[in-house]
Order: sequence, then C-alpha cells, then structure tokens
Amino acid sequence: MTLSAYRTYFYEQLTAQYPQEECVTFFKAFAEKYLGMPPVQIPINLDRKLTETEVSQLNKSLLKLKEHEPLQYILGETEFYGFPFKVAPGVLIPRPETEELVDWVYRDQDASTSSILDIGTGSGAIAVSLAKLLPKAVVSAVDVSKQALAIAQENAKLNSVEVHFIDQDILAVGDLKQNYDVIVSNPPYVRDLEKVEIQPNVLNYEPHEALFVPDDDALIFYKKIAALAYQSLKPNGILYFEINEYLGEETRELVKKSGFKSVELKTDFAGKPRMLKAKRT
Ligand code: SAM
Ligand code: GLN
Repeated sequence: MTLSAYRTYFYEQLTAQYPQEECVTFFKAFAEKYLGMPPVQIPINLDRKLTETEVSQLNKSLLKLKEHEPLQYILGETEFYGFPFKVAPGVLIPRPETEELVDWVYRDQDASTSSILDIGTGSGAIAVSLAKLLPKAVVSAVDVSKQALAIAQENAKLNSVEVHFIDQDILAVGDLKQNYDVIVSNPPYVRDLEKVEIQPNVLNYEPHEALFVPDDDALIFYKKIAALAYQSLKPNGILYFEINEYLGEETRELVKKSGFKSVELKTDFAGKPRMLKAKRT
C-alpha cells in the first residue's frame, strides 16, 4: 500500500469521529513518529510503499484513536512551552492554558527568584519548564501520585534540569517546612457536575484524581494551598493558581480570606478567567 492510499484509508476511518483538521494533525503526527517523516516530506513521498510492519504499527495506533485514546498517550509524548514531555496514562496531559500560567510566572520573575514550589506537579510540566526558564532558581515539586512523580522525574532528566520531587498528600500536611519565593499550583478543580462537559478522551483516559473535586467542596485544594502558602512564602513571595473558570470570584475571595493583600485574576486565550496571582504583602 502506498502512503497516499493509506492516508485515504486513515481519513475514511476517522471522519465520523473527528473533524477533518484533527485527522490531518493525527496523520502528520503518526507519519513523523512511525515513518520518521516530517510533515513537509509527506507530499513528496505519497508514492512511497509502506512495509507490512509500518502498516501494522499505524493500524494499531489508528484503532486507539477510534477508541478515543488521546493522541499524546498513543505517542507517549507531547510538547509544553516548547519543551518535550513524556506522558502516559496515570498522568495528566499538560494543557495550553497551563502554558499561560507558566508564562505569567516567568515574566514576573527576575534572576533573584531563588526558590519555587509546584504543588500537584503531574508530568512536571510547570516545575520542569520553570527550572528551564529560570536556571538559577531551586525548584521543588509535590504530588501524591507515584506514577506522576516517576514520569515527572523522567521529564526533568529529559530536559536536563534538577527538580526536587516530594511524594506528599498536600491535603494532609500541616506546613511546608521551607520558605519559597514562588508557589504555583494547578490543582484538581473540575466539579463532578461539570463532568457532562468533559470529552470522552479526557473522561475515559485521564486520571480522575488529577481532575475532579466534589461539588460541595470544589475549592478544597485552593483553601489548603492558600493557607500553606501564606505561612511559607517569603515576605515578597507570590502565589499563582490555575483556576476553574466558573469559580473565579469565589477563589479570589477565599485567597483574600487566607490573608493575601492583593489578588488578581487573569483570563486565558479563550477569554475565560483561568489564573490567579496573590501577593503576600
Ligand atoms: N501540574 C500538572 C499540569 O499542570 O499539567 C498536573 C495538574 S493536575 C490538574 C493535578 C495534580 O495534582 C495531579 O498530578 C494529581 O496527582 C495531583 N494531586 C491530586 N491530589 C493531590 C494531593 N492530595 N496532594 C498532592 N497532589 C495531588
Ligand atoms: N483544564 C483541565 C481540563 O481540561 C482541568 C485541569 C484541572 O482540573 N486542574 O479538564
């Protein structure tokens, strides 16, 4: 079978489930991963015959797409803030809105930032990117999931940075034991009632303990982390959160109640309130 014939078959198989644009993205990603062919080379290779092994590898991954497995899990990798990250089931796929949070932290800091803590690090997306962007800072990162910590370790190595990983349930700790210039967190914040809005590729494949919180205690992580941060930030320290777009004002109020003087909300690329920054003094 030629590459051209396979591409036609691939699109036919997926057209009922995905928009055309996404099918094109999938095909380009598969050609690159399994045929070693960057997107620009596809048009000049359309007559190339695929080997049986190649077809069988492509078909195996095509089947996973048909079952709504996220592309990033199929490939085992993704990009975040331009850096490569490994991902696997059991760890949240980092989102573009979180790149905006990293960008906000990075733009606010200067060379004097000496210590950063990322709470609920998952793949290590925030911690590893900040370690890369602010090479003088000592970066630590907490998660309760051993699977996530193992992948985050690999991502620190992959990006040649050092991050101090801490295996800890943040809801169970009394204090942070150390002072930081910056504390940043993208904790679980999707309410059970919002599950109806979540796509099957997320709902059926991504770890629920990374995403969901009970309807009647939606801000549980924010309350705990804001209290810990207020105790442990250095005098001019800053707390950054990614937040639930429906709970911007409630989250702001809660953070103010924890003692923070100035609390600012910021919208994401889609115009939704998605980030919060709080200064201790
Ligand atoms: N920081 C990553 C990112 O932005 O892509 C992952 C964020 S994910 C929304 C939330 C993370 O918090 C998950 O990795 C999850 O394992 C972790 N988590 C959930 N409950 C926790 C707890 N009680 N203590 C520490 N981490 C927790
Ligand atoms: N924004 C994520 C989503 O798409 C949720 C991340 C979180 O719960 N912190 O579901």
